[in-house]
Parts: sequence; structure tokens; C-alpha cells
Amino acid sequence: MEPLHIQEMEGKQAHDSAFPLPHAEVDIHRPIIVGAGPSGIAVAACLKAKGIDSLVLERSDCIASLWQHRAYDRLRLHLPKRYCELPLAPYPPRFPTYPTKPQFVAYVESYARRFDVQPVFRQNVVCAEHDGEAGLWRVKTAAGREYAARFLVVATGENADVFVPKIEGYDKFSGPVLHTSSYKSGEAFRGKKVLVVGCGNSGMEVCLDLCDYDASPHLVVRNALPIRGADRLLLLAARLILGDTAHLGLPRPLVGPLELKSLTGKAPVLDVRPAIKRLRKGGAEFSDGRAEDFEAIVLATGYKSSVPTWLKERKMFSEEDGFPRRPFPNSWKGEKGLYAVGFTKRGLLGAGIDARKIAADIERNWRTEKEHPTPAVPEQLLAGVEQSSGST
Ligand SMILES: Cc1cc2nc3c(=O)[nH]c(=O)nc-3n(C[C@H](O)[C@H](O)[C@H](O)COP(=O)(O)OP(=O)(O)OC[C@H]3O[C@@H](n4cnc5c(N)ncnc54)[C@H](O)[C@@H]3O)c2cc1C
Repeated sequence: MEPLHIQEMEGKQAHDSAFPLPHAEVDIHRPIIVGAGPSGIAVAACLKAKGIDSLVLERSDCIASLWQHRAYDRLRLHLPKRYCELPLAPYPPRFPTYPTKPQFVAYVESYARRFDVQPVFRQNVVCAEHDGEAGLWRVKTAAGREYAARFLVVATGENADVFVPKIEGYDKFSGPVLHTSSYKSGEAFRGKKVLVVGCGNSGMEVCLDLCDYDASPHLVVRNALPIRGADRLLLLAARLILGDTAHLGLPRPLVGPLELKSLTGKAPVLDVRPAIKRLRKGGAEFSDGRAEDFEAIVLATGYKSSVPTWLKERKMFSEEDGFPRRPFPNSWKGEKGLYAVGFTKRGLLGAGIDARKIAADIERNWRTEKEHPTPAVPEQLLAGVEQSSGST
């Protein structure tokens, strides 16, 4: 556990950018974890369980900020809770199979409390590079702070930055255009005709939410799918969002909504449109030549990794997509004490697997380093490094 004065200093540091930390307390053995989402917190917890303190740097003002600040109100875990557990802590039995957003946030918060993980908030990491001479990762924040450590864990997530594709006429559209990360509920769209761009989980769920608020959603599916293909997608999304409703006496129809329309003329709840060609003042033109008016647009176009913008390392991470070059199950470990958690495209389950492996590997190296320390880093190489700590 950290001495109290260290916690106090970090608390002050988080709020007072001028608060100085004495260089004498620099402890390079304390792994730095960038990102306080479920993945980063999971690594810190696994390390703590092994008696190793870490330093978690988070750009936002809370843990699990994706869930707290950038997720719509009706969000629930898309997968049953047993597939979304963080290491060493199952969900409370009273939680439903698909916990709600507030339940998930409460779970991660109590997880962090249980393992005494206290991230330093408002620390937007803008640069991290390996200093070969000192054998350290140097991490800099937007506020100009510098931290250093032997081990660096990248936990900034697959969804760090909003992705918005280039759409011709984007600035001409006169109504509101928002990304799903800013969408909270359909309340603001009551009675409106809304174009939802993107048909992943979020796009589907936003459509459902808009329907609940008596809005009229129209879904853009970029690549024209054959009717049956689109139907399969819609039925899969319905299953993901609603689960298996057969036991409620509502078996899913064997025919999808689009095929049903073409066979019987009955309209499905959701209208599907092909790719957008361009936006204009009050609507959109589509690749099939149709033009239609809309009052608002919701971009369910996803996210991208932010790693290439701040990590000055190209061997482990691809510059193109900001993911580790080696796929799961080998994506978690790089060289020189660099690790990645939560880039497996396997959600929280993948993050938990990574977290355990990373903590075990750091523990091995950390104990070796403690027992057979490499020569001390010369004082001048640590000039400017502010962070201090006491590892257990
Ligand atoms: C709408 C939605 C629903 C989802 N539902 C599920 C689900 O049901 N089950 C599942 O397993 N997965 C789900 N996911 C996947 C989701 O990515 C994970 O659940 C989880 O949030 C991943 O955790 P993470 O810590 O890897 O990333 P994040 O939760 O994104 O956390 C990364 C953290 O890093 C911080 N950060 C980023 N860049 C920097 C920087 N430069 N400096 C400092 N901090 C930084 C961010 O602010 C953020 O707090 C969902 C995702 C979305 C978008």
C-alpha cells in the first residue's frame, strides 16, 4: 500500500499542476499504466494482488470514462456478465445477466476500491518513448508533466477516439449531427426523422432507442447487402440487444424484416438505406440515386485507437490502426517492458486474459530487478521527471 502522503501528493498533483514532487522519491520500479478503463484497472488490480503498486494515468476525470461519459443511457453489457468479469472479481449475484450501464460502472468502481487502485485523473498522455540510455519509458502529459518507469502498459482502449468517416457535404447539413458517443437518449429526437449511419451494435441500439421515443430512424448500411444478408445482420443485432426472447413467448421469426417486406409488403420497424453519396442542407443523397429529407443524423461510425498519436514506438503497435501488430493471444507483450491490454477485439474477456498475463510477466521481471538491480539511473537522466512513489 502507498504511504498516505504519496496519495495526498497525487491528489494535489491531479488538481494543482504547479504542485512540485521531490526528485528524490522517483521510483522507476512502479509500472505506469496509461488509461483507467476496465483494462487498465484490471492490470493495476492484478499487480496489487501480487504486492506491486502501479501508477494509472487517465486523461478523463473518472474511471471507465467510456461508460460514464460516452455511452447512451440504455446501454447494457452486450454479452452475458459471466463473459465480462474482470480478474479476481465476479459480478454480484443480484446483478442481471446483462448488467445496465450504472451497474457496470458501480462494479468497476468497487473493483478499483477493493484493490486500492487510485488513478491520477486529468493526465492526458501525449508522448511516451523509450529512453535506451536510462532503460526507461518516459511518459509526458499535455500539461507538461513527465513520468518514468521500467514498465509501460498501454490501456487506452480500442475506442479511445471517435471515428467519423469523410462524408461529402457534411458541413452543409442544417440539422444536428452527433456521434453515438454524445448520444444519450431519443428524447431530443421525438417525432423526428433521423438518419443513423452505421449498423454495428451501437447503430442498432440507437435505432431501437429512437423508436422508443417515437422518432423515425432510417439506418444506413454502407455496403449494399443482399436482402438475406441484411436480414441476418438485423436478426443477429436483435438477438444481441434483446437476447433470446423465445422463453417469453416471443420466438424470433425465421424470415428477416427485409425479406418479410419483399414477400408480404409488411413494413419492418426499421428502414434501411444504402451508402450516403453526399449530405445536403435538409437531407441526404444515397448511392442508389435516392434523395431524402432528414431532421437529424446520428453517426454510429465507431471509434479508433489513439496509440499512434502518443506512443513513439512502431514495432509493437501498427501506425495504421493503433493496434498491436501481433494478434490475440500474442498481442499483450512488446519489448523493453512495453505491454498492451484491451486490444484483443474480444471485449472485457480479452482484457481480463491480457491483464493476468501482464501482471505475471511484470512480477517476474520486477522481482528479478529488485533482487538484482541494474545500475542506478544517473540523476541527470531523470532530470525533469516529476513522479514519485513507493512501491511495496
Ligand atoms: C457502446 C459500447 C458497448 C460495449 N459493450 C461491451 C460489452 O457488453 N462487453 C464487452 O466485453 N465489451 C463491450 N464494449 C467494448 C469496450 O471497449 C469494453 O467494454 C471496455 O470499455 C474496454 O475497456 P478498456 O479499458 O480497454 O478501454 P476504455 O474503456 O475505452 O478505457 C480506456 C481509457 O483510456 C483513457 N485514455 C485514452 N487515451 C488516453 C491518453 N492518451 N492518456 C490518458 N488516458 C487515455 C480513456 O479516457 C479511457 O478512460 C463496448 C464498447 C462500447 C463502445
